[in-house]
Amino acid sequence: MLRWQAFLQAGLRQARRERWTRGASANARHRVKGAAGAWVFGEEGDLAAVQVTRRTYLVAMRLRHGLPVAPACLVAAEESCAHGTAAGARCGVRLDTTGHHAVACGAGGGFVRRHNGVVWELARQLRRLGFGVRTEVWLDDLAEIKDGRVREARMDLVVTSPFGTYYLDVTVFHPFTRLGARRLPSAGGSLAAQEQRKRERYVVRDPASGTRRTRAHFVPIALASYGALGPAAVELFGVFELAARRSLHVSSSKRVGWLARAVAAAAVHGAAAGVLSAFAPPDGQERAHLRGLAAPGA
Ligand SMILES: [Zn+2]
Repeated sequence: MLRWQAFLQAGLRQARRERWTRGASANARHRVKGAAGAWVFGEEGDLAAVQVTRRTYLVAMRLRHGLPVAPACLVAAEESCAHGTAAGARCGVRLDTTGHHAVACGAGGGFVRRHNGVVWELARQLRRLGFGVRTEVWLDDLAEIKDGRVREARMDLVVTSPFGTYYLDVTVFHPFTRLGARRLPSAGGSLAAQEQRKRERYVVRDPASGTRRTRAHFVPIALASYGALGPAAVELFGVFELAARRSLHVSSSKRVGWLARAVAAAAVHGAAAGVLSAFAPPDGQERAHLRGLAAPGA
């Protein structure tokens, strides 16, 4: 009886999904692909390396549904982007109501903060499972192509386990441009494309001889700002969780897929924090700088 009920409900859900897909705009379908069902019941209550507030939650919900983000801001939202540039000025681009510029604008170190939040959270979760984890490690066995030049690689995470060493490089991307257009896979607008970019950047095999430069496994961790996680990371996290459940570090009752949910929540709340900072009016300190009232070096 119960099995039939589950079966019928699954069928109903699929019918609803198909009906929605037929009626949805291309942009909405693209957005939903960027979420891939992630972060509906996430692990955000458990995050430590990323700030989760009522407001990041409200903004994230609005981003997910493609709604205007301003109603989720605490004070009257700014109309131009408040992210600071390296030169100390504001980005100043006119903000779109649905927050595409805010998420896709990296001015003021927003991308770095979002990326580091995911790296630190992943490191924290993997350490809990008993793995050895180091972050931002210079590697002498793997080369990286940066700006057309080959150099030593710096890896976001190096994970050591009884079954091998893993080099993990994290990337968080927004599937839309700052103007709100869909990014095509050729422009890095899909998880597979982002994984491929990372694989092309890190030279695992010597181009001349074809021999491996490293005995470690290189795995790109690609995340969309809406929470979808790339297939390479999904597979690897499954391996890590299985190993952890078999050891004494984690009870067998721990659900499957929590690593994916944790990093998805970190990316989603990190993106929401970027929106809040883009729409935020200057705080007291910045106001003083803008008016030239702050003491030098303050
Ligand atoms: Zn901006």
